[in-house]
Amino acid sequence: MNELSSIQKLTKFFVSEKIFSSMETESRAWKVKCNNCGHERSIWEMGGIRWKAYGEKALYRRCPNCGERSLLKIYKKTAAG
Ligand SMILES: [Zn+2]
Repeated sequence: MNELSSIQKLTKFFVSEKIFSSMETESRAWKVKCNNCGHERSIWEMGGIRWKAYGEKALYRRCPNCGERSLLKIYKKTAAG
């Protein structure tokens, strides 16, 4: 249903189907949340890949939802909650 970004397409070219699907699952679990409006979406939805990564990160970026430059928190949302 989702179009792959160029980075995702490129990665898909280099890895096996199995690894790529694992990357997709994990990248979907990584969420980016805007400090300003609370808008949340996954790394995957943003066209990125985050795989075999640990910890949380924060980026100072423009939020696509509210348009403000804000601290975007990157964290992993597990199925367990
Ligand atoms: Zn926002």
